[in-house]
Order: sequence, then C-alpha cells, then structure tokens
Amino acid sequence: MTTNHDLFQRAQQLMPGGVNSPVRAFKSVGGEPFFTARADGAYLWDVEGKRYIDYVGSWGPMIVGHNHPHVREAVERAVKNGLSYGTPCPAEVTMAETITRLIPSIDMVRMVNSGTEATMSAIRLARGATGRNLIVKFEGCYHGHGDSFLVKAGSGALTFGVPTSPGVPKANADLTLTVAYNDLDAATRLFDEHGRDIAGLIIEPVAGNMNCIPPKDGYLQGLRELCTKHGALLIFDEVMTGFRVALGGAQAYYGVTPDLTTFGKIIGGGMPVGAYGGRRDLMQQIAPSGPIYQAGTLSGNPVAMAAGLAMLELIQAPGFYDQLAARTRLLTDGLQAVADGEGIPFSTNRVGGMFGLFFTREKVASYAQATAADTALFNRFFHGMLERGVYLAPSAFEAGFVSSAHSEQDIADTLEAARGAMRAARAG
Ligand code: PMP
Repeated sequence: MTTNHDLFQRAQQLMPGGVNSPVRAFKSVGGEPFFTARADGAYLWDVEGKRYIDYVGSWGPMIVGHNHPHVREAVERAVKNGLSYGTPCPAEVTMAETITRLIPSIDMVRMVNSGTEATMSAIRLARGATGRNLIVKFEGCYHGHGDSFLVKAGSGALTFGVPTSPGVPKANADLTLTVAYNDLDAATRLFDEHGRDIAGLIIEPVAGNMNCIPPKDGYLQGLRELCTKHGALLIFDEVMTGFRVALGGAQAYYGVTPDLTTFGKIIGGGMPVGAYGGRRDLMQQIAPSGPIYQAGTLSGNPVAMAAGLAMLELIQAPGFYDQLAARTRLLTDGLQAVADGEGIPFSTNRVGGMFGLFFTREKVASYAQATAADTALFNRFFHGMLERGVYLAPSAFEAGFVSSAHSEQDIADTLEAARGAMRAARAG
C-alpha cells in the first residue's frame, strides 16, 4: 500500500516542501500531511483509507460538500463537448448573467483562473481608472501572492513569519500601505495623509486568513465613506466570503457596496476559477473595450464554467444559508462548551458558514489578538483532531468552513473528538 509518509518523502524531493501550495505542508502545525485519495460529502479519505470529517473544503469551494452529483454531472456533460475552445462559449454568458444578478454591485464581470489573478487584475484596474499608484491593505489580510499583496500578508505568509517575501521589489512594496484591520481611526489617519495618491483599498470584508475575524459594527461602512471622500476605489476581496457568508457575499450581509469585487473558490465549484467585477464605467476600461490590459488563455473555460454554474444553482436553494449558519453555530457553540467543560481558554468567531477557533479567553477582533492566541495549544489540538478523524485547517491562522453536507451527526462526532483532543492538548 502507498502510505502518506512514502508519498511525502517522494514529494519533498520533487516539489518545494513537497506541495504545490505552502500551508498544505503542515509546516505550521508540524508533522506530515496526508495525501487525499478521494472525497465525498463532508469527508476526505487518505491513501491509507482513513476517513476525515473535513472542515477545510478545499479551502472554501466545497460549500455543498465534495463530489456533489449535480456539480459532477454538469462537469461530465461539459467534458463531452471538449475541454477548452479559446473562443467565447455560452456558459460564460450564463455565468456573467448569474453573477450580476446575485451581486447587485456588479454590472460587468471578467472571469479569470484564480483568486490571485482576480485581485491582481482588480488593483490594476483601480490604478488605471484613478491614475493613482498607492494601494491600501490590512495587516493579516491575504489577497493571493501578487507582489503588491505580500506585504504584512496573512495565510501561509503569516504562518511562516515572512510578511514580506524576498523577490518582491522594494519599489513595489512601497506602493502598498498597510493598516490595522478593524481600526477605523488608523485608516482615517492614513487617508488623511495619503488620500490623494490612493488608487484603492482592498479588504477581506470578513478576514479569513488570520483565522476568522468579522468586521466591527460600522467598520466597512466607515471604509466606504473614506474611499468615497478621497476618490479611492473600495475593493472587497470576496474570494473567501463570496457566496459563503450569504448568497450575496459579505457586501449583502453587511449592506456595504464596494466599487469592485473579487471572487474565487465557490464560484468555480472546485475548478480553478476566479472573477472580478464591479461598476460598468470601471469594467469598461478593461481591454478590449478599454485600455487596461488583462487576459487569459483558459479564462471562461467551458468545464470550469459548468462546475461553477452548477454550484451557483445549488446555493440558491431556499433556506440554504440559514441551514449552513445553523450548522456552523452548532459546531462553534459545541466546541466552546467542550473547551469550557475542560477549563481551556477558548473563543470562536463565526459568520455564515465560516468560522474561527482561538485558544484565548478574549473575543478576537484584531490581528494582534489573533497572533497572541496560544498557537502551540492549537497545534496540539489540530493533531489530536486529525488522529480522531477530523481535519481542521493546518494552521492557527486560517478560517474553517462548514458545508451543507455536514450532518448533525458529523458535528456531534466532531465534538466528541474535540473532547478527547482538548484533553490531550492541555496535557501537552
Ligand atoms: N483572496 C483571498 C481572500 C483568499 O482567501 C485567497 C486564497 N485563500 C486568495 C485571494 C487567493 O486565491 P487563490 O489561492 O485562488 O489564488
């Protein structure tokens, strides 16, 4: 039998860290990753046949669970007609119609192949449209690995303590201003000083790459006002929150309208897809209708569009988000009760189907609080859960995701595992 260990040994000789994306390597939590052989519903099975209840969901896309027949069958139908055309295809039009209908702030959209591409393109548009160069981002927010964003970034960059990656030219990093998340006064001061040079502000409206931190009341509204006042574009990076915290994303959940929005993950149903869109007058500046260049050989790929459209059909079912939020609440309330029962300092955050777990007594609302939580305890808890067949994100700085495939029994099994894992983690 192929073992996880054997595969990881081979992989490490062939790929940096043995992986194609850093957090997968378990560097932050220690130990070795498992290799998935198949996935279905709420579960992953590794190559050794062990089953895990999965709260990562391919880092967000699998909101209806893995291998959903509706999505799989749509892909199977699409594949029969060829894999890529390099010409326009009907599914792209349906996709654009669906996105613009579900997200009222988006008049026009452009499909790309990843969240990174979406955010890189959105800031190019912000710069091109305003004629300004500075971008504002928030400490601990992650927007993909574009040069402009690897400045005080979250996710793997945060885990590894390399907030600014070598290879990002200083001249480039100098154009990215960073400010504390959830601190409106700090953002106001920054805009007072640099406002006339700021092209756009990009934010994860619910931060999901420094664990999960919702915006404070009025915070997003405050940022909207700042951008409007200073003529900068407000860009919501909804790669994670889009179609996740609500059908209309965080902008619907919090009632704040951005100028541009970026998407990824769910919009592709598990295929490599991203998108950016927004106001018509802005999007019309993108080539070929305007001068700001952005392109993609595989963008709008027919198979990827079929997967994404099938996914977007499923999440429009009545009551879908209420049920998802209720399941998520069952999980986070349950974990809190387990931790309280064990006398372990613990708190949770949750918005829709997205959650965060923190080994601290404080309710976490800032990057500073998130990084001050007990990550060593988290790491032991993570491994305890893994042993007991529950897969959490392998880092204390990633949000977790619940899918509609997680049953009440799955949650109950997770809480049972958590009892054992917390006891073991506390014992050290
Ligand atoms: N923005 C956010 C908010 C993300 O969470 C991510 C990925 N986790 C990205 C952008 C980058 O997306 P991708 O990994 O598809 O390039």
